[in-house]
Amino acid sequence: MCLLLSANILDFDLVKMPSQKEDSPRVLLIGGIQGDEPGGFNALNLFLQHYKILKGEVWVIPNLNRHSILRNHRGIYGDMNRKFKTLSKNDPEYSIIERLKSIVLHDKIDFIFHLHDGSGFYRETYISKELNPSRWGNCSIIDQEKLKGAKYGNLLEYSQSIVKYVNASALKDLHLYHIRNTHTAKEDKEMEKSLTFFAVRNQKGALANEASKNLPLNERVYYHLLAVEGILKTLGVEFKRDFKLTPRKILEFINDSEAVVQITPLITLPVMGLKKSIAFFPLPSKEIAQIPLSSTHYIMGLLPKNQDIVLKYGNKIVTQLSPFVIEFEKSAQKVQIQVDHRVEEVRLGSIIKVKKSFKVLPSNLRVNVIGFTPKGRAGVSEANYEISLANLIKKYSIDTKERQYRIEFYNGRKFAGMIIVEFEK
Ligand SMILES: [Zn+2]
Repeated sequence: MCLLLSANILDFDLVKMPSQKEDSPRVLLIGGIQGDEPGGFNALNLFLQHYKILKGEVWVIPNLNRHSILRNHRGIYGDMNRKFKTLSKNDPEYSIIERLKSIVLHDKIDFIFHLHDGSGFYRETYISKELNPSRWGNCSIIDQEKLKGAKYGNLLEYSQSIVKYVNASALKDLHLYHIRNTHTAKEDKEMEKSLTFFAVRNQKGALANEASKNLPLNERVYYHLLAVEGILKTLGVEFKRDFKLTPRKILEFINDSEAVVQITPLITLPVMGLKKSIAFFPLPSKEIAQIPLSSTHYIMGLLPKNQDIVLKYGNKIVTQLSPFVIEFEKSAQKVQIQVDHRVEEVRLGSIIKVKKSFKVLPSNLRVNVIGFTPKGRAGVSEANYEISLANLIKKYSIDTKERQYRIEFYNGRKFAGMIIVEFEK
């Protein structure tokens, strides 16, 4: 058996956030059209986790250019934001663009808000190399002032309202937002090919928002979220968030210490604090794009690298797995584990916390505690041993603090699942 490491085009996610009162506008938020602009896709990843819509409806595409995000590349197949005027059917991203166009044109969508990270700080007049009219950072972008005939067409007015909202919470004068009108229809041949102008040409209100690449990630996300709030309020979409919006809180959310990712139902891994690489890691013999991943974070993904697989969280590397390719059981069963002298039923594919020791009770499954070798009895099932941190070889831990270990379960020649044991401090 071997793993097929094909360069699959990964499709984007569309997540709908409905409300009890859906009479007012439905807004489409889009992030990640360029894979090296993490402010936008991290902002929407957090928006999906920490906001609730109370009136109106919001649709979110957090990871439009997913394959480029995972590779930290502006656009592996060229700039995706130049593919909305004409595009060859042979373009590898043709089907992604077609799907996106149909969502933009959907009857239910009234307005499109598109997030970017741009360099420097936009200013109407030349002030310095980083502050001038050809910079894109921290501005609200309109293609034109008004869109006649559109349901929500007062683009300049909306942009003014966003800028006012954002600037009320700006961290420094340097960061103050300005409006940039690209006058696309009159003079900007490049921007004619963009996503927002595609919407505008089709009588849909659309704005772009730029956070500065000169800012650290959490501050970019801060400005994007302020701008998203600004447009939602302006259009009459009501929402609530479950936190106080500050750059410090955003940093905490980005480095979410509780984050986990499920790789098939049989394995759950923590996202933060893993070692750079983990050897001999069970994976099913499937194309990478077909391996099911799920997480509360929307920007997780797997990428091939030589014979290995890299687990990514947006642009960040979580860990590199050296696969041990094996057939996986279809569903996870439960086993009994004595955790600190109390017997618990544990589903394979979970993470358990242990204070002092654990003991896997015997079942029909063969048990392999990675990093544990009972004296003189290598190769047998490692059920029924009481194991504490001192019994484990540290280099086999999966985390840099050397407190997390894996127990693997096998049913004959099949992989039945993994349990991660974390020794608490
Ligand atoms: Zn961009």
